[in-house]
Amino acid sequence: MNKSKEEIAEDSNVSSNFIHSIIDEYVEANPNNKIHTRFPPEPNGYLHIGHAKAICIDFGTAQKYNGLCNLRFDDTNPTKEDVEYVESIKEDVKWLGFDWGDRLYYASNYFDKFYDYAVKLIKKGKAYVDDLNAEQIREYRGTLTEPGKNSPHRDRSVEENLDLFERMKKGEFPDGSRVLRAKMDMASPNLNMRDPVIYRISHASHHNTGDKWCIYPMYDYAHPLEDAIEGITHSLCTLEFEDHRPLYDWVLRECEVENPPRQIEFARLNVTNMVTSKRKLKAFVDDAVVDGWDDPRMPTISGLRRRGYTPEAIRDFCDRVGVAKADSMVDIALLEHCLRDDLKLKASRVMAVLDPIKVVITNYPEGQVEYLEVENNQESPEMGSREVPFSRILYIDREDFMENPPKKYFRLFPGNEVRFKNAYFVKCNEVIKDENGEIVELHCTYDPETKSGSGFTGRKVKGTIHWVSAQHAIDAEVRLYDYLLVEDEENEGEMKLNSESLKVQKAKLEPALGEAKSGDKFQFIRHGYFSVDTKDTTKEKLVFNRTVSLKSSWKK
Ligand code: ATP
Ligand code: MG
Repeated sequence: MNKSKEEIAEDSNVSSNFIHSIIDEYVEANPNNKIHTRFPPEPNGYLHIGHAKAICIDFGTAQKYNGLCNLRFDDTNPTKEDVEYVESIKEDVKWLGFDWGDRLYYASNYFDKFYDYAVKLIKKGKAYVDDLNAEQIREYRGTLTEPGKNSPHRDRSVEENLDLFERMKKGEFPDGSRVLRAKMDMASPNLNMRDPVIYRISHASHHNTGDKWCIYPMYDYAHPLEDAIEGITHSLCTLEFEDHRPLYDWVLRECEVENPPRQIEFARLNVTNMVTSKRKLKAFVDDAVVDGWDDPRMPTISGLRRRGYTPEAIRDFCDRVGVAKADSMVDIALLEHCLRDDLKLKASRVMAVLDPIKVVITNYPEGQVEYLEVENNQESPEMGSREVPFSRILYIDREDFMENPPKKYFRLFPGNEVRFKNAYFVKCNEVIKDENGEIVELHCTYDPETKSGSGFTGRKVKGTIHWVSAQHAIDAEVRLYDYLLVEDEENEGEMKLNSESLKVQKAKLEPALGEAKSGDKFQFIRHGYFSVDTKDTTKEKLVFNRTVSLKSSWKK
């Protein structure tokens, strides 16, 4: 379901209250406690737009209450995790504008504590070593309509459990041969409570602990303890963990932690035309569908950054989407709208010709150059102005000329006069073609009386087009993007990869852009917002990404 702007606004009112009102009550009851949250990514991929929302909620909530937010790598799964991801996540959180101070933590640093708590559970008769394999465990688990069955190993003595668990730790058993399970209730209507596995054997090296461990804790067991160890007061997570909350609370209660944190769930962010699953994004990277995690078409934070998104735009988007309690699909147009809104007053507006045709102003003196003063952004006068050279040979965009135009075409065509932006009225007199009938240049004349700013009122023209002086133009590669995913006409409701998500053009830019630095952002008049590519731009080659077009395609 796509939401309208009004619905989204409403959600954000309701829901920013929902986490905050829980915390307000807590603050009233515990006036001396600092609110403490955490953002707990698993370093098994790059962060995406969905994580940006979680980051804004976790750090934003702490900010609102003058509290603290930790960055914690939830690195309890050795096989999928990598330091490359750790570094990218740190960079992304910082770039979004959040600060974890000196509170950067790794769940893997708590492995000893998790182990001690597990021993405690065994001693209390609350955990046991099971010899069933994964398939048998699944069979014994039952279904939503049928209760599960107790494992034949469920009633092992505490001594035997302690011995087996220690030997699991020492590496005496192969992967998958035994697990440690919490002793809860095999008849619970909540399947998560049917004696969940809390430790498994995996003889795998860990990026932080190396080969020290060959047993690793499961998420549902480790996460509440991580929160408790760090003194988290409110553990904010996505809705799929709602059914795991009784388990979260069970672990804290049975481990007898002081000041147990409280888990609160909010809706995941889903955005039309965007994938928000690290697993799927990783497949795009591995299958070379895209040029890495930071490909400007990727919904990763690094991809959005390279595309030209600003942290302000992403934070504004997350704010407007709000914190809802029900999953929904947000139109990507809202994200684009936030971006335009942010760049509107920040980006200089310049002239760029993406698909050039040559124009010769036949009555303009050869060798003459005029420097026209142009405001950088009419809506931000403080951004000053620059000089744009005008000369006899110019480029205009192919789409601004038609030899046989339909009615109401107000741009250039034979016999028509238009304004060349910030310059003169120019009239097209002749179309020059090559032997194949392709247009190679247009011969035009200008009227010196009509210079912009001269107050000329003699006659009016209906069209204004942008242009670039040929001898001064800067060459650039311009990359125009479409969504990576589009609707699949053959399978209703399904998305498919867009085979036309990238179009590359050889553009001619006004000379001021020769000074552009990596990551600089501009509005190319009529073409949209563009950002200097941070990866492929070199001294010899300037590459621009189209960040976003100028118009929204907001769907109602
Ligand atoms: P993925 O499904 O992409 O693998 P994940 O939930 O496994 O994501 P984690 O690294 O575990 O990724 O996520 C860190 C935090 O970000 C978690 O608290 C998670 O709930 C939150 N998060 C992940 N995806 C979204 C999303 N689409 N919207 C909001 N929060 C999200
Ligand atoms: Mg996860």
